[in-house]
Amino acid sequence: MGADYVVAIAPMEVDADEAVMNLVALSDEAAITAVSVVLGMEDVTANEARLRIATAIHAIVGVERRDVDPVRFEGQAYVTGGLSWGDSPTAAFDEVALLGAAGVTAKQPVISEHNARDCLLQGHEVFAWWDIPYRHAVEIREDGTVMVLTDTDRSGESVGDDTFYCQKCGDVEAPDEYDYR
Ligand SMILES: [Zn+2]
Repeated sequence: MGADYVVAIAPMEVDADEAVMNLVALSDEAAITAVSVVLGMEDVTANEARLRIATAIHAIVGVERRDVDPVRFEGQAYVTGGLSWGDSPTAAFDEVALLGAAGVTAKQPVISEHNARDCLLQGHEVFAWWDIPYRHAVEIREDGTVMVLTDTDRSGESVGDDTFYCQKCGDVEAPDEYDYR
């Protein structure tokens, strides 16, 4: 019997705010699977799984730790590990493994097939991305116009190329036309 070398890797492509947004967009099933596979937790609820992943985000993303190194592969990743006698070899190990399994620190692809208007028509909750953490809700009016609900006066400001964020789909393209309340 001897100690095994084990390593945990998680993508390092987004900041903590974006990782949280990815967590919000993550399906219940994916969150539960990540937590049960990595931590061996059984009968975990979706809320418990999300809370556990959120804890991992706050422990790892953007945090300088003595037991985690950023390593550049094709992108960047958190790497931690060491010799294990069956336990976690570093304090960060479970956290990093969990982020890797949940995928919340990986850059999410922009969905180009549809835009925020399509999401709104399907009843998805959509936010304007550019002012996170002060994001504003976006809604579709009865006359079909897309409105960004903001109390900020943005008249005259060009934001045409901005990406919107859908709770279900992640990043989506801006609707062709939209207006501020
Ligand atoms: Zn959507």
